Amino acid sequence: MAVLDIRVLGDPILRDRTEPLPHVTEDLRSLVADMFETMYAAEGIGLAAPQVGRKERVFVMDVDENPLTMINPEIIEREGTERAEEGCLSIPEIFGDVDRATRIVVRATDLDGNQLEVELTELAARCVQHELDHLDGKLFIDYMSLIKRKFTARKWEKEATNYPGFIRKLEPGKTHSRRSRSRGAAAESSAPPFEPEL
Ligand SMILES: [Zn+2]
Repeated sequence: MAVLDIRVLGDPILRDRTEPLPHVTEDLRSLVADMFETMYAAEGIGLAAPQVGRKERVFVMDVDENPLTMINPEIIEREGTERAEEGCLSIPEIFGDVDRATRIVVRATDLDGNQLEVELTELAARCVQHELDHLDGKLFIDYMSLIKRKFTARKWEKEATNYPGFIRKLEPGKTHSRRSRSRGAAAESSAPPFEPEL
């Protein structure tokens, strides 16, 4: 297994649509193992293939110690709406509110090639919707108002200089201080004590 480099905003692969996968191959299993390792190293709760420079239609997630691999996922039911703050491993230091369904049923293929249908709520449901967007070349900043997007673009211009070639290299063992930071979203009882980075 290996910790992979994360592609950040500006890398065109984040805007590409992924292609459905006809089979579960050894190559895919190996990619998924690396994606889990990368997601944990980055202290994220979700990671989609384009974020590590790949075109496979797959993402991994782990909310509340429930690791899931979703190949060719589709949301077949959605219910309710909640606005909450999100972040993204591919857009460090940028956060914004996004409306997401509060309950979803997602259908996907797992690593054994079996079809699964999972009902998820709240943060786990939010995570799936964020990752599924990645597989379609969509990012959470696309939901921002024009004004907020302009502000974000200016902030990102400075932030992006930390990532030459739009590559975010993870340092093994390095932890960042996200969890200790207090933000408005933490005041809501349904919100996590830190912004999810997905
Ligand atoms: Zn993301």
